[in-house]
Order: sequence, then structure tokens, then C-alpha cells
Amino acid sequence: MIWDRLKDLWLLFGRMFPLPTAPGLREVGRPDRTSPVLVTCNFDLTVRKVIRALSRDGIDAWLLVAPTRGINVWCAAGGGHFTADTVVSILKTSGIADRVDHRRLILPQLSGAGVNIWSIKERTEWKPRFGPLRIEDLAAWLRRGARMTEPSERRVEFGLKDRFVMGTNLAFASLVFFILPISLASIWIPGLWWRSILLVFLLAVLNSVLVFLLPGKPGVQRGLALGILVAAVFAILSQTWLAMPALSTVAWAAWIVFLATYLGYDLPSWSPLWRADVKELVLGKRHTEIAVDEDKCIGCHLCDLVCPVDVFERRPQTRKYVVARMDACQACGACVENCPADAIITNFRAGLCSCPTCTVIQGYGALKARPADGDDPARACGQPEADGCCSPDAGQSEALSNSDTSPPACGCKSCSGDPP
Ligand code: SF4
Ligand code: SF4
Repeated sequence: MIWDRLKDLWLLFGRMFPLPTAPGLREVGRPDRTSPVLVTCNFDLTVRKVIRALSRDGIDAWLLVAPTRGINVWCAAGGGHFTADTVVSILKTSGIADRVDHRRLILPQLSGAGVNIWSIKERTEWKPRFGPLRIEDLAAWLRRGARMTEPSERRVEFGLKDRFVMGTNLAFASLVFFILPISLASIWIPGLWWRSILLVFLLAVLNSVLVFLLPGKPGVQRGLALGILVAAVFAILSQTWLAMPALSTVAWAAWIVFLATYLGYDLPSWSPLWRADVKELVLGKRHTEIAVDEDKCIGCHLCDLVCPVDVFERRPQTRKYVVARMDACQACGACVENCPADAIITNFRAGLCSCPTCTVIQGYGALKARPADGDDPARACGQPEADGCCSPDAGQSEALSNSDTSPPACGCKSCSGDPP
């Protein structure tokens, strides 16, 4: 028990390190043939948190732990390790189909960045839907009948506690890059090693905790602002209280500004509120765009269900969705991945991990425009048009049974009256 708690703590502050637990089927409580079937990643901390949250509320359930390389849900989905293939694989290998009488499958909302629920539906007999964003809301949502998630259950928040955890994660991750050059430089500069480690932790946490108070755009600008602020305080203290030589003060101040700027640049890759695109983080210029093609939109509500930052809004007259808060979009790709009508147009590639490291590794060549035309319009109702198609129940209303109140009109050619 104590070991588990220590492991939780370590993983909370060092969650960028994958820690896999065995994929497969877990029983939570005493599930029977009617119990809900949930899917999660195989990051050890997440699995134990889900089991704990459900057990605490006395919920019996089947939990499918998918092979996501020991990475947490959002990162695994964004990085291409939690996809429809992953889910289909665990469905087929776990034997869950023999344990339950229903075929309802609940996915974590943040898996939408990588998991296309239409693909699961086409390839299996299961009817997937997205659950709430936070594990803490899962039990209450299941008790309500696992239907519609409330807006508050599907939006990411970035409170003080989250920001502190992000800061420590940022520090750990940055030390991976800095430890070797710092260690080498310490051979010639006594005291550099431990002071630099402390500085990385301090500046990472300050960057994260104070991020809403710092001037400028998220990224380099806010990091630089923090660096100048901390360096100024340090310079005053070093020249008065510490009585350091002027040259040392200048060197340490420059080191502080550099570290704070780098950490400010890297912070968005650990935060849920900013799209972390290198060009934007360095220059402060936005170039990522997203829009809905209203002619194609069938008003199914799925984009709004999977979006963690409330970008979409429904037009009451047309019942279609539009991009209302583009600046909030952080290019996770969940809406693009799951829009059944291929109605969302972006200039980024869906499923591309949005952290700076992945963007640099994959290069700008990966950020190419998604084709405007869907490759399979029949997917709008989940059946091939050749089958004669389609009622709302034929496809999307099953997959989107946690959707809005009014059933959407099917967007396929047969339903819309267009010649097939
Ligand atoms: S069709 Fe696409 S854009 Fe329209 S509501 Fe559904 S997911 Fe959103
Ligand atoms: S609008 Fe942006 S943040 Fe929202 S789901 Fe789509 S890509 Fe992700």
C-alpha cells in the first residue's frame, strides 16, 4: 500500500517516463454480464487511479488495459500509440466479448486524439463512445447511465495543482537534456551542478505556476519575462546580501535568463491549454487554423464532445457546429480524427503529437493540410451507400448515443437527396 502511494507520487511528478503495466482485462469489483466495459491506457498510474476511483464508488466494471507502451492516455493518443488499432487489438485478445451480453464500449475522452471510433465500429461489433475527461468524474457519469457528458466533464482545466505538477514534470524532462552539459561544465565551474539543478526546478515550477500572470505570449516570451524578473532579483541579492563578484553575477543572471526562456518555450508541451507549435512558441505568431465546412457538417456533436478546450459552438438555426474559439485550439486532432463527415478542415495533421519535441522530430513536413474532401462519405451513417443506407440508428446515433438531444440528419448522399 505504502509502496503504491510512493509509486503514485513518483509517477505524478515524473509522468513523462512511461511505466507500463500488463495490458489485458481487469475486473473492478464483481462485474457481471451487464457491467460497463471501459478502456484505458497501460500507464501504471492511470490504471490504478481508474480502479481506485471506481472501487471507491462501488462500481463494478470490466477494464480493458490497452497496450499503449506504458504512456498516459493523452500523450499516447497524440503520439500514435493509442489508436483504433490498439482498441481493436485489446477487444479481440482479451476475451471480453465472451464475458458480457452487451457491446457498449467506453473510451477516455482524451483518447480521441488518436482513436477513431468509426473505425472501431466498422471493424468490430462494439459501439464505442467517449466518457468524461477526468477519472474523478467517471463514477458519477456511469451512475447517471453513461449518457451525455456535461460540458464541465469534458473540458480541461489548468488549476494551481495541475500547474505545479506540470512544472515538476517539465523540470524532470528538461534535466534529461541538461544533465550531461551541466555535468561536464561542473568539472571547471565548482558548484554549478547542484545550483543548476535547483534552478531548473525553481524556474520550471515558477514558469508553470505563474504562467497566467507573466506578460507576452505563451512560450519564449513568457519564459524570457520570468527569466528577466528572477535574474533581476538574483542580481540585487548577489550584490548586497551575497556580495558576489560582478562577473559571477552577470554570468549567473545570463544562465537564469537562458534557462527560464528555454523552460518557458517547453512548458506548453506539458500543459493542456496551449497548442505547442514551435513557430508560435518562438515567434508568438499563430499559424495553426481550424474550420468547419458547414456544407458537410451533419451536426452530430462529436467534435464538441471530444474537444477538451471548448472550441466549437452549435448554431441553433442550422444545428451545425462552427469554430467559435479558434485561439483555444491546441491542435490535438481529436475532432478531425472523429468527425464522421470529414467536415473539419485544418492545416495540421490529425494525430500529430503537439509537443515541441515531437514537432521538431517529425519536422514541418508533417504539418501538411488535411484533404478537404472526405475519403468515405458513406461513413457518415456508418454503412456503405451500396447497402441502401441508412437511418440515424444505422450508425452515428449508436456511436454517439451520448450526443445532443436531437438526432442529426445523416450526411450521406442517399439521405441528403444527392445522386449517389
Ligand atoms: S459533422 Fe463533424 S463538424 Fe459537424 S458536428 Fe459532427 S463532428 Fe462536428
Ligand atoms: S478544436 Fe483543436 S483542441 Fe479541439 S478537438 Fe479539435 S484539434 Fe483538438
